[in-house]
Amino acid sequence: MPPSRTGNASVASSGSETHERKHLMSTTHDVINPATEEVVTTLDLVGVEETDAAIAKAVEVGPAWRAVSPADRGMLLRRFADVVEEHTEELARLEVTNSGHTIGNARWEAGNVVNVLRYYSAAPERLFGRQIPVAGGLDVTFKEPLGVVSVIVPWNFPMPIAGWGFAPALAAGNTVVLKPAELTPLTAIRLGELALQAGLPEGVFTILPGKGSVVGERFVTHPDVRKVCFTGSTAVGQGIMRKAADQLKRVTLELGGKSANIVFADADVEKAAASAPMSFLDNAGQDCCARTRILVQRKVYDAFMERFEAAIRAVRVGDPGDESTEMGPMVSSGQRDTVRSFVEDAEATGHAAPDIAFRGSAPEGKGWWYPPTVLMAHGTDDRAWREEIFGPVVSVMPFDDEADAIAKANDTAYGLSGSIWTRDVGRAIRVSRAVEAGNLSVNSHSSVRYSTPFGGFKASGIGRELGPDALDAFTETKNVFFDTQA
Ligand code: NAD
Repeated sequence: MPPSRTGNASVASSGSETHERKHLMSTTHDVINPATEEVVTTLDLVGVEETDAAIAKAVEVGPAWRAVSPADRGMLLRRFADVVEEHTEELARLEVTNSGHTIGNARWEAGNVVNVLRYYSAAPERLFGRQIPVAGGLDVTFKEPLGVVSVIVPWNFPMPIAGWGFAPALAAGNTVVLKPAELTPLTAIRLGELALQAGLPEGVFTILPGKGSVVGERFVTHPDVRKVCFTGSTAVGQGIMRKAADQLKRVTLELGGKSANIVFADADVEKAAASAPMSFLDNAGQDCCARTRILVQRKVYDAFMERFEAAIRAVRVGDPGDESTEMGPMVSSGQRDTVRSFVEDAEATGHAAPDIAFRGSAPEGKGWWYPPTVLMAHGTDDRAWREEIFGPVVSVMPFDDEADAIAKANDTAYGLSGSIWTRDVGRAIRVSRAVEAGNLSVNSHSSVRYSTPFGGFKASGIGRELGPDALDAFTETKNVFFDTQA
């Protein structure tokens, strides 16, 4: 890794406006390996000037990109997918180093970018409009690109979340500017380089590593950016939506979660307990879909907890580069401090100390480690039950019957994901229709498939990504009437 890198941003300097120079000047950022606390590289962060230059370039190359024939645009995206696939191991190792993801997860994440690119490479030739019967002529609709689309990515899944934005956006004929999170920019920068290598024209897809308050804000305020595709915290998402309203800018918001894992007494309790750890420990709990509220029917509560404890104690936490590791470190010391504020530091931050049921293990010494931790919820007002912790911490609570389970599952501001464990088909259908969340799984913990829609109810967001309909979020529908009487 070279000591200092930037993305493929078009870095331009107008040489004027010196009065704002201080504010606009680029700064640097140390990228740190979360497992060792060593500096991996130091990046030049882009400022407002470079962001404006990249947006101007994206505007400039937009018409030519839009004019690429559908078959050729699809072919370019497939070539991009092929180049990413050839670099899977390099990208995965980079993610292990930058983000502390386990090598198994990181390979899946790079593979997800490949799959998403291939899935949407079929879209340019299938961006169908409609022919609608009307009197006196021919009426057809077209799916037109928006123009410049911005993608703002959080630190928890740097590669997949980038791909969910840029792949359908490019397929629909938009040009894209993308800002990775400050903590985890390296794989996005590499994907920008691989796009050029695959033959995407310069300026069509530009990575701008920088601060949210600088680059991210500029995406929202710049009049030539037609859409903000944002994934991150609910608070930042709300701010983006408020500011986007000034220009009626389109937004997709994928925000936080506090998902329920509901285990009914008629379920395969053994399987539910065995699978519960990785439903909230995947990516060290830094997962918006983490099932962090476990609801267990009272009749099987003790049996579940006994098996769950054994499963938690067996989780292998350690070196993320080791093939057998199931959970790595937290992404940053700050994120670990946040998690501690819910558990060991709760009283110091003015909250009641939670009741710890049992914990798993974590390495000592260098690295931002935190052990898998299971809390017994006292009630639905517990801070750890209500707020998104974004770490390897889960709360468990018993429930009495189906109505009680649904009421408790829905007693949250969020609505992203969730799981329902039952052998009763009728109950599975009733409960999955009643739980207010965008992505549910029955007798499993699956949340994300590139071919199915993903997104949240309530404070978990607005809009859907992935699946067959994602193109709608990156196009405008245009209706044209051709008068045949003329
Ligand atoms: P965050 O909101 O702090 O940051 C997300 C991104 O927004 C970063 O790139 C950041 O630089 C940028 N940003 C920050 N302030 C900004 C501003 N004022 N204007 C524009 N951009 C700005 O979130 P995070 O801490 O990086 O990620 C964790 C959060 O993301 C969690 O709440 C998690 O639930 C959520 N998340 C949601 C999904 C989903 O699909 N629903 C997926 C992953 C993560």
